[in-house]
Amino acid sequence: MPHTRTAGLVFHPPVRSRTPAQQAKDTHVARIAKKWPIPHTRGTSASRGLERRGNTCYRLSTLQVLMHLPKFLNWILSHNVADATGNTVNGCSPATFATGFGCAACHIKALVQSYWGEGNVVGGVPAQILHNDSVMRDINHMTNVMMGVPPGGPIPQEDAELFYTQLLHELDDSVNTLIPGITPWSDQYAALFTIQRSTTRLCNTCNTPRTIPITVPSIIARQDIGFISIPINQHDHDSVSAAIHRHMQPSALGLLQCTTCNANQQFTDHHAIIAAPEYLRIKLNIVYHDAAGNVHKITNPIALDKTLDLTQYQTDRSTPLKYKLISVIQHSGQGLQSGHYAATVKGRAGVAVVDDGVVRDVAERRLRDNPMVWGGAGKGMRFQAVVLMYVRTRNRELL
Ligand SMILES: [Zn+2]
Ligand SMILES: [Zn+2]
Repeated sequence: MPHTRTAGLVFHPPVRSRTPAQQAKDTHVARIAKKWPIPHTRGTSASRGLERRGNTCYRLSTLQVLMHLPKFLNWILSHNVADATGNTVNGCSPATFATGFGCAACHIKALVQSYWGEGNVVGGVPAQILHNDSVMRDINHMTNVMMGVPPGGPIPQEDAELFYTQLLHELDDSVNTLIPGITPWSDQYAALFTIQRSTTRLCNTCNTPRTIPITVPSIIARQDIGFISIPINQHDHDSVSAAIHRHMQPSALGLLQCTTCNANQQFTDHHAIIAAPEYLRIKLNIVYHDAAGNVHKITNPIALDKTLDLTQYQTDRSTPLKYKLISVIQHSGQGLQSGHYAATVKGRAGVAVVDDGVVRDVAERRLRDNPMVWGGAGKGMRFQAVVLMYVRTRNRELL
């Protein structure tokens, strides 16, 4: 890179580095195509509704979010395919035969093909996928087994994030890892969705890491699907970025024996991001229990940041870590095991609110509506954002 010389000073381009774990994630993500897998014979890149039967809106809104992550779609489409020599790549795990519902990745792959396929497009408008379509029957059966719904019994409302997490784990486990394929399925999964974080426990006086107890290391590494249950303010102004900032602050542990100082000292846990994913899911903790154990929802309108800059929270801060908002699962009603879920998604064609079978295009800015008010004829329902999806935005040199 050329240097710029101004008034005798040489400006060097900033030296950008990443942790080895971040480099690995970036390499895996770069190998997944980002192009929407929509054939142009479809004639439109509009989203489709998914017909609801019973309390399945928590499933449908989660599936809608997944259908709007292009790299995820291409990853799923790489499941159980034949390579040029006819060998199976990313084939189904033998364990999927014992699940009682078959292979989760095959079911979701079939949904991707139906959802974005050219079939059932009427007058340029993609028709909803019916609840008794074989694709949805398989997915609903799978979800009933996964969520423990008794056969034939009524489907209870569930927390969308629980289903979301379980489904992603099933997808990660769907591939036979005993036969390594051309693409590393689980590494790509982790690169798409998991954030690797660390907690380092330090003595405030001498800065020495402490091991408590001996079996727990002073640096605790964890892998999560984004940020889970981020606390939000019940009354004061709040935003996603402020909530994450609070979450990443050092936490005081109190007095502990420091073997270096040889005295009781104050210790603090320091939190950092070691490696971040392509898609950063953030679950806001919008419910709380009162003293009597009743569930309440926080309806304080937390601001949904259009972009998030997490650079400062990394163990290696030399490379920017920035995201932009692409979808929101929102909930209307009292507790997350009741009420109704919908999703606002950003597709290739723009932003749409998807409420079960109904898709309505809305202005781009409405992605950040919180509460989202939806429903016609003056009886709009108020939905609170509960699960957000952000996509990483990159510097050109890291693409
Ligand atoms: Zn499969
Ligand atoms: Zn000390």
